This record gives sequence, C-alpha cells and structure tokens, in this order.
Amino acid sequence: MSIQNPVFIPGPTNIPEVVRKACDMATIDHRSPAFGEILHPARDGVKQVLKGKSAEVFIFPSTGTGGWETAITNTLSPGDKVLVARNGMFSHRWIDMCQRHGLKVQIVETRWGEGISAARYGEVLAADTAGEIRAVLATHNETATGVLSDIGAIRQAMDVARHPAMLFVDGVSSIGSMDFRFDDWGVDVAVTGSQKGFMLPAGLAIVGFSPKAMMATKTARLPRTFFDVADMGAGYANNAYPYTPPVGLINGLKLTCDMLLDEGLENVFARHHRIATGVRRAVRAWGLELCAEGPAVYSNTVSAILTPDGINGTDIVTHGANKYGVAFGVGLGEVAGRLFRIGHLGSLTDVMMLSGIATAEMCMVDLGMEIELGSGVAAAQEYFRRNDGLAQKDAA
Ligand SMILES: *Cc1c(COP(=O)(O)O)cnc(C)c1O
Repeated sequence: MSIQNPVFIPGPTNIPEVVRKACDMATIDHRSPAFGEILHPARDGVKQVLKGKSAEVFIFPSTGTGGWETAITNTLSPGDKVLVARNGMFSHRWIDMCQRHGLKVQIVETRWGEGISAARYGEVLAADTAGEIRAVLATHNETATGVLSDIGAIRQAMDVARHPAMLFVDGVSSIGSMDFRFDDWGVDVAVTGSQKGFMLPAGLAIVGFSPKAMMATKTARLPRTFFDVADMGAGYANNAYPYTPPVGLINGLKLTCDMLLDEGLENVFARHHRIATGVRRAVRAWGLELCAEGPAVYSNTVSAILTPDGINGTDIVTHGANKYGVAFGVGLGEVAGRLFRIGHLGSLTDVMMLSGIATAEMCMVDLGMEIELGSGVAAAQEYFRRNDGLAQKDAA
C-alpha cells in the first residue's frame, strides 16, 4: 500500500506540492496590511473563477456545508419559502439544513441520476403568484450521482416566470472544474469549498453574493454570528476577519486561483472534460453503466458507476483501499452499495487518471466481475492519444 498514490475521490482532491508549500506559512499578524496582501488577491481570484464581476466574495474558515449556511442565514427569515430539487445526497443535505433553520421547503423530488428539471421549477414558480418563494436552490453538480444540472436553464425558467426569487447555487464540486457563470446565469449566491476544484485541504467555505443577495442581508432575520457576511465585510475593510483567519489556507487559495487562471479557465474545463471522457470510455468498455441518465447530465468531475447485481460498490472501494492503497468514492444514501464513484477533478492529468482506471479494473476483477484487464485502460488511452495538447503541462 502506498500513500504516494493519487486519490480518485470527488474531494478532497490531490494537492499540488507548490500548494502545500503555500499553505505552510510562518505566523503573520492577521490584522495587518501583510494579511491584506493575501486576502484581497485571493478574493479577487475567486471572483474571476466564478466569472462574477458583480460578486462580493467571502471566505469563511469552514467547509462547503458552512457555505450553504452562509447563503441561507444571511438572506432569509424564519418561515421563508425556498424551492429546491432533491436528486442526490448533497441536495438532500441542503434541504435538511433549510428545514432545521425553520424555512418552508418546497421539494421537487427527482430521480437520483436525473438533473434538475428547469421546466418543473418554471411551473412551480409560475404558480407562485403570491411570490412566496424567496429563493430557488440548485445543486449544480450532484456529487453523489455524477449529475450536472443546467443552471442557465433554471435562470431562464425563473425569468420566463417573471419570478423575483433569488438563485442560490451549490457549486462545491463544479466551481473551478466545470464552466460556472455567476454573472451570466444571474446567480445570487454561489457556494463552494476549498478541497475540490481549488485543490486545497478542506477548511474554507467560499461564497459569492450578488448585489441582490447583499440587499437581502439587510432584512434577513435568521440568526447568524460566525457566518455573518456584514461582520466579515467590515473585517475585510481593515485587512482582517471578525476572528482569527486560517492565513495559510487563504494564501494557498490565492495561489490556486492564479494557477487556474494561468492555465486558463477554458483550458481547465477542457482538461476536466477530456479526463472525464476517458473515464466514461473505460466504463463503456467494461460494459457498465453510469448512474447519470445520459450525456446531457454527465459530470466532468465525478463518475458514479453502477455495479451489477451481486456486486456491492462499497466492496470495490474497500478493496481498492486495502489492497492497492487507492481511494475511490462509495455510494451515498439511496445509492449506497449500488455504485462506486471515480472522482476526476482538481489536480489531475491523463496519466494519473490511467492509473486510477487500471486500479479500478484490478479491483473489479479481484472481486469476480467479468471484466477484461486492460479494456478500460485501452479505451481511455485511445481517447487520450487523439485528444492531446490542452494544458497538460500545467495540469499537475
Ligand atoms: C462536497 C460537497 C458538499 C459539502 O462540502 P463539505 O466541504 O464537505 O462541507 C456540498 N455540496 C456538494 C455538491 C459537494 O460535492
């Protein structure tokens, strides 16, 4: 077993060596211009990654889940209604959080494996003539099922219904890896974390607020202290936090934003698309199916692979860890045991991915599945050979 192997879980992702070094800092005064020289470029970098010129960026010591809490507590009041689709474990958890905060939650139940139906959202919004729905929630990439939803289509449905609700998007496993357009899609709050597309350790909740969401903070009555964006903004104005910031992580974020922007966001997205396509070719060669219902919703950051009857997907993951020292993702919630997941986001190259595909193959053969060793690797190799070029040199 080797701890030198890359991980193939959909977060936390592999951390480039230069990023680990950037996070490892001597203590500085965290209420000083020296900290401002780390904080403000990091916030500006996030803004660019979000494609959000209008976004006000806040960075909390937390994780993506804290980002959800930041979104709802700063903009909503007890009893406010939100509209949300449930199509996997992460959307389910966001719903649970809304309910625990005393919000009224209108849920659009969606089969796990399908994307959010913009049409269904549109119908619900059109029927809400009293304008009770204050926010529309959408998980851009359902990490549990490997399903990407169309946020632009959701914005369009909201506009067609002429509904004034805010749009909150969980982009935890998409931002920095797949196209995300804060301004163009009229996103009001975007939520992500440090340990996925940003290639950092876990520890930061990263959010962008639109001017409309900032307005909503003035009247929102849900209790908030640690995640209060007004307190945070006041801190930023003095190169500080309302409390002690994780300076090293923020320094790492400043670097990873530069890395993503230097590679070029479109190149980053193309790299993720290419690596994901290689994985999908392998899955097809194995004769297996994805949980995602079809190409329109295929995720370029994670593939959830259904296992045949009699094969528990979790056993593949356990075996990979024990025998080969390689981490894959288990099925969560409703799909536990029925699939395993290959994460392919963050700091990853074609070559690294081939090792993950090869290992998955060994695991499946070891567990008695009728798969030919090398079949998935060969399918991915064929694809990678013909689709070389884009930004490979910077990808690691
Ligand atoms: C990972 C993830 C989260 C949760 O983030 P944490 O950092 O674990 O709190 C939320 N949503 C999605 C889509 C995720 O992939």
